Amino acid sequence: MSKKVVIVGGGYVGTELAQSLERYCDVTLVERKQFFCHVPVMIRSLVQPELFEQALFPYDKLLQTGRVVQASAAEVNESGVTLEDGKTLGADAIVVATGSSHDTAFKAPGASVEELREANRALAQQIEGASSIAIIGGGALGVELAGEIKALRTHKQVTLVSDTPLIDGYDPRLGQGLEAKLGLLGVEVITGRTAVDLPQTRGAFPGPIRLDDGREIAADLVIPALGSTPNTALLDPLPGVEKTADGRVRNDRWLRPSALPNVFAAGDAVDSGDHMTIVGASRQTPWLARSLRNFLAGKRTDRTAAYGPWRNAPLLVPLGEHVGQSILPVVGLVGSRTTRLVKGRYLFLPKYRKLFRTG
Ligand SMILES: Cc1cc2nc3c(=O)[nH]c(=O)nc-3n(C[C@H](O)[C@H](O)[C@H](O)COP(=O)(O)OP(=O)(O)OC[C@H]3O[C@@H](n4cnc5c(N)ncnc54)[C@H](O)[C@@H]3O)c2cc1C
Repeated sequence: MSKKVVIVGGGYVGTELAQSLERYCDVTLVERKQFFCHVPVMIRSLVQPELFEQALFPYDKLLQTGRVVQASAAEVNESGVTLEDGKTLGADAIVVATGSSHDTAFKAPGASVEELREANRALAQQIEGASSIAIIGGGALGVELAGEIKALRTHKQVTLVSDTPLIDGYDPRLGQGLEAKLGLLGVEVITGRTAVDLPQTRGAFPGPIRLDDGREIAADLVIPALGSTPNTALLDPLPGVEKTADGRVRNDRWLRPSALPNVFAAGDAVDSGDHMTIVGASRQTPWLARSLRNFLAGKRTDRTAAYGPWRNAPLLVPLGEHVGQSILPVVGLVGSRTTRLVKGRYLFLPKYRKLFRTG
């Protein structure tokens, strides 16, 4: 009889893993949402709202022999997964790929499309109505958002505030290049300063904001872009779980988050040595697919080669369709032309149309 794998979370890890494993075993993907949302589009759709619907993919054609169960998982243990309605799904191996949460305008917390559509549209309208916008956070989201707004709404005053250098944690030339290009687009970039006394760290609000050097930044609209929150609720109660300072669960070198040998995890919820990115997820997923096949064939996981995270992690950062700066595997730092060709123009939408078989 075919071995059973239950994957919780139909995000970047869960969808690709389920599709690559269904030829080899009985796969069930548990996902609470009605749709997959390709999140990079949620940034550009704030200034090009017509793109929004293109980012949504139904799960119905994702799998051919496996199945997608639309439900919230409430508990995981070595025998399988229990859903919120009390149903249990038995499994030989379980993968927790519950990802992370963000501001509702970028990533919906609940099941419905409407919630995300409404929040994204509301933020787009706030951006449209603001003459001056301050974005707090110099990670990829804050940088891209500043670039996307300024590229299409040149008359708006955009300020980006970051307490670290831009895109901290990557090759510093990436952040330096992006800072220079944001400057050319007309974005005022302030690094090394912290915005203090913020009324909230999620969701936009009216400015001004104050910096830790006493400066006040006037802004009709302030958008915090302060990072994602890992969804670890299913993993937290498992034996032997350890958390990192940023709230992720620490994986071992074979992508196991706990003392249970048949429970695996990947993506944003866990620290496997990669950043919380699709780029990290896309390295972990094929490795995990191979490792699970070995595990289901009866091989001892810790006698197989361990997972190796990205050494010099790539990242593609478009600032609108035409400008950008990226780090790619092998070639290293690349500029606007390559960033546009690889990501800036289509935001990888064709890849997801193919994955979800939507044409
Ligand atoms: C606006 C934005 C833009 C981004 N752009 C980029 C980019 O351009 N490049 C890049 O590399 N990274 C980007 N990222 C980061 C990227 O989105 C994450 O790294 C990625 O989503 C992680 O994938 P994942 O599969 O771990 O989790 P997720 O994509 O978060 O998916 C987890 C899934 O699990 C489901 N789930 C959670 N709990 C349960 C439960 N109990 N039961 C059932 N289902 C559950 C959720 O509904 C969700 O669908 C961006 C992030 C944001 C917010």
